[in-house]
Amino acid sequence: MSFVTHMHLALEEARAAAWRGEVPVGAAVIGPDGRLLCSAGNRTRELCDPSAHAEMLAIRAACAALGTERLIGCDLYVTLEPCAACAGVIAAARIRRLYYGAADPKSGGVAQGARVFTHSQSHHAPEIYDGIGAEAAARLLRDFFAGLRGPR
Ligand SMILES: [Zn+2]
Repeated sequence: MSFVTHMHLALEEARAAAWRGEVPVGAAVIGPDGRLLCSAGNRTRELCDPSAHAEMLAIRAACAALGTERLIGCDLYVTLEPCAACAGVIAAARIRRLYYGAADPKSGGVAQGARVFTHSQSHHAPEIYDGIGAEAAARLLRDFFAGLRGPR
């Protein structure tokens, strides 16, 4: 069986977020049929909402589109390791597989920090695949923050 990655959809959203002046993180929810359900980029500044992370918005939109609070059989692609809050929502939504790009030593809550899915209070743990498209995701973030600091 060949592995089909949908990370390019999340990376496109991350690039679009950077254009909007948002920290470039993107996410895509893929349905059980392997087709894109919803994708989103970070919009915390635009929406004045600290929870408007890419994966949070993509999960909300996918749930709304399906008319359900659970995304059974759905996979999530995120360019950056989800934070603890998003990891909690990923568990609640019963995401089947989580694919993420760059590790996030500052705010990550999956492989470090809170390690949300390792606790018995986490009702569900997705299969996790990290490092998918990590280099491109990390480069977007690096370029974005370098741009904020201005030319040297
Ligand atoms: Zn988050």
